[in-house]
Amino acid sequence: MRETKAIIDLAAIRHNLEIAKQLAPNTKMMAVVKADAYGHGIVQVARALASADAIAVACMDEALTLREAGISTDIILLEGFFSEQELRQAFEYQLQTVVHQESQLKALEDTSNDAKIKVWLKLDSGMNRLGFEPEDYQTAYERLSQLKTVEKIYLMSHLACADDIDNAKSAAQISEFKQYLQVIKGEASLANSAGVVAWPESHLQWIRPGILLYGCSPMLDFTGPQHQLKPAMTLESQLFAIKHLKPGETVGYGATWQAPQETRIGVIAIGYGDGYPHHAKSGTPVLINGKTYPLVGRVSMDMITVDLGLEDQFELGDKAILWGNGLPVEIIAKHANTIPWSLLCGVTSRVKFLWQ
Ligand code: PLP
Repeated sequence: MRETKAIIDLAAIRHNLEIAKQLAPNTKMMAVVKADAYGHGIVQVARALASADAIAVACMDEALTLREAGISTDIILLEGFFSEQELRQAFEYQLQTVVHQESQLKALEDTSNDAKIKVWLKLDSGMNRLGFEPEDYQTAYERLSQLKTVEKIYLMSHLACADDIDNAKSAAQISEFKQYLQVIKGEASLANSAGVVAWPESHLQWIRPGILLYGCSPMLDFTGPQHQLKPAMTLESQLFAIKHLKPGETVGYGATWQAPQETRIGVIAIGYGDGYPHHAKSGTPVLINGKTYPLVGRVSMDMITVDLGLEDQFELGDKAILWGNGLPVEIIAKHANTIPWSLLCGVTSRVKFLWQ
């Protein structure tokens, strides 16, 4: 059997939640589980995070998946609702919603419902993606406050550059948001994982970590273990063929890599069809029997090739770790010119998921 697996360590996720709580004591925790919990399995992760004060998803389908699985934790829709039907569902399933633009505010004003809803009013403090412009924020708050259907209004904004400790934008965003918090009183949330790790002034009443719960550092040029985080996903497969190459022979599509000397090439059963990044460069480490070997040649749909050299002993079936325990995904992301968020979300359904 092709042994290409993603092993999800739920205890690691719980451990990472505790680290987040230590980094931001006296705050409430909104654990972000959107995009199938960053590829880790939304239902399993939401169950593991039962001690969080709330969980956040991007959209209605994700929220309904959780409710159908019997998860009763508070759920926040980070993108808000997209239609009147979704607004009705938000009332029906007791979901909290972000309100980030006029059309949503209007829909709330136009709706009548016996139930009540909690909303998170979003300020655009500089991300320029979602949120009310600063000059419209207070009016939006006042309009929401008038509505009988609105039970509670929380305040939120989102940091654009918190991963970069030298970027002045975070301080500017924090101070912009805090100006409004002096005028509008309420529980507020600004910190994503990078805010939790590096910007204590952003912690406020609610933190919203995502990536750090999965054991990755949100900071540029750091890895999770440097913040005592444990990787939650280990992606592994096995060595299933070994080739002997003479000096000058090439490997794979495009013959992009040429053996400088005699060597052995190990073929590992994972490729971009499984979510391993096609753009991983030659030299990307692969962990086999506790030692790293460099990826060589192009990543194929179903397999990758690594330079095993001539010294070490291998057997067909030896386990290869692509990222996770012993090999932080941040390192692979760097070699593939991408981000850990994207790699974790991108593992495909061909890979067997095992939750432990
Ligand atoms: N808050 C919002 C609004 C988000 O969109 C996200 C994720 O993109 C997060 C929090 C969590 O971010 P991170 O995974 O960087 O902690």
